[in-house]
Amino acid sequence: MKTIGLIGGMSWESSLEYYRIINELVKEKLGEPHSAKTIMYSVDFAEFENLQHQGNWNLLTEKMIKIAKKLEKAGADMVLICTNTMHKMAPEVQESINIPLIHITDAASDEIKKQSIKKVGLLGTNFTMEQDFYKGGLKDKHGIEVVVPNEEERKIIHNVIYKELISGIIKDESRKEFKKIIEKLKTRGAKGVVLGCTEIPLLIKDKDVDIPVFNTTELHAKKAVEKALE
Ligand code: GLU
Repeated sequence: MKTIGLIGGMSWESSLEYYRIINELVKEKLGEPHSAKTIMYSVDFAEFENLQHQGNWNLLTEKMIKIAKKLEKAGADMVLICTNTMHKMAPEVQESINIPLIHITDAASDEIKKQSIKKVGLLGTNFTMEQDFYKGGLKDKHGIEVVVPNEEERKIIHNVIYKELISGIIKDESRKEFKKIIEKLKTRGAKGVVLGCTEIPLLIKDKDVDIPVFNTTELHAKKAVEKALE
């Protein structure tokens, strides 16, 4: 079994999910008492969140590269960035290491294509919904069309992520807001919805939505386990 390197702590609430899912999948594939070989480098999210909101992506990129190199040196056979937002610097991180970076949009796209869906709604942080690094990954590389919520809705989603979900706060009223937003994306042609923030699956489950839901945390973790057991 290969060793999975994880850049976590963004937030630790979702890193816990990665750890749980990866271990459950290995157990499922290999049987008890197997568990996954992993190395996680978990950051102080306060520092990273401040830099994101200051727009200091250069410093964030430097930090991410340093961490990925440490994971490689520690014996990881692959690297996962356990957040959608921080895939903004995925190309630079991949260039700086000699082990593969398992990209979260590749993991999501594999499943979207498997279900023959051509147009999806995307929920995530403002960075993910507004900038091109993520939508571009889905569209240019995989030919999947993406619709994002309007400005006001994006603000709601961003605030729920940073003020509630990253602190493990799950509110019914936020779930209702998210469901309303997803309904509107459906009217704009979305045939599925990408939960493009690794904490959103804590709030929105398959049963909350009547179109396919793409849980990026789970799909990313699953792809890593497939690679680890190849
Ligand atoms: N975990 C979130 C994501 O998947 C947001 C936290 C972050 O800003 O990295 O985008």
